[in-house]
Amino acid sequence: MKIIMLGAPGAGKGTQAKRIAAKYNVPHISTGDIFRANIKNNTELGQKAKAFMDKGELVPDSLVLDLIMDRFTEDDCKNGYVLDGFPRTIPQAEALSDALKANGEKVDFAINIDVPDENIINRMGGRRACVGCGATYHIQFNAPKVEGVCDACGEKLILRDDDKPETVKNRLNVYHTQTQPLIDFYEKAGVLVNIDGTQDMDKVFADIVKVLG
Ligand code: ADP
Ligand code: ADP
Ligand code: ZN
Repeated sequence: MKIIMLGAPGAGKGTQAKRIAAKYNVPHISTGDIFRANIKNNTELGQKAKAFMDKGELVPDSLVLDLIMDRFTEDDCKNGYVLDGFPRTIPQAEALSDALKANGEKVDFAINIDVPDENIINRMGGRRACVGCGATYHIQFNAPKVEGVCDACGEKLILRDDDKPETVKNRLNVYHTQTQPLIDFYEKAGVLVNIDGTQDMDKVFADIVKVLG
C-alpha cells in the first residue's frame, strides 16, 4: 500500500502517518524527520537544507528527490510506505508518479487532512518534539506524562524553531502556493481522500481506517 499524507503544516500528518504505519505495517517516511536528522548530524545535506527550513521555505526539489529516491531503494519499502511531507510541489509529485510508473506502480491513496489556517497557529505553538526520537506531543491535546520529557525515550522536548508564529505564517503561505495544488493533482488521479482534521486524533484515525480498510 502506497499512501501520501497531504495537509497544511500542523494538520496532523505525522500523528496519523505513525498510526497508519503501525496498523498497516508499512514504514513511515517523513522528509522533515530525515532533514532534521541530517541537521543534527551536521551532514552536507543537513547544512544545505537548514537555511531553507529555518526560513520556513521549501528545500529545493532536486535535494528532496535525491533523498527520497534513495530511501525507496531500502528493503522495508517493498510492501509500500506512508509518505509524510513528500511530495510538496507539483514537480515532486510528477517525479514520484514517473518513478512509480516505470515499475508499473502508483500511489493508492492521497489522504488530505483538512484543517483551516485559524486552527494551525495554535496547533503549532503547542507542538513539542523530542530531540531524541522525534516523537511529537501537544501541550494541550496530547501532553506527555511529565512536562518537557519524552514518554518514549526520556529525552527533552522542544518547540521547533520553525514552529514559532512568524515562521508558521510563512510556512502556511508556502503551503497554499506550492503544496495545495497537489490536492487537485491527486483528485484528477482518482486517489484523493478528504478527511476532517479538526476532529480529535482518534476520530481522524477512525475516518482514515474506514477508507483504507
Ligand atoms: P510539518 O510536518 O510541520 O509540515 P515537516 O517536518 O514536514 O513539517 O517539514 C519541515 C521543513 O522541512 C519544511 O518546512 C521544509 O523546509 C522541509 N521539507 C520537508 N519535506 C520537504 C519536501 N518534500 N520538499 C521541500 N522541503 C521539504
Ligand atoms: P504535521 O505532521 O501535519 O505537521 P503533527 O502530526 O505534527 O502535524 O501535528 C501538529 C501538532 O498538533 C502536534 O503537536 C500534534 O500533537 C497536534 N495534533 C495532531 N492531530 C491533532 C488533532 N486531531 N487535534 C488536536 N491536535 C492535534
Ligand atoms: Zn523521545
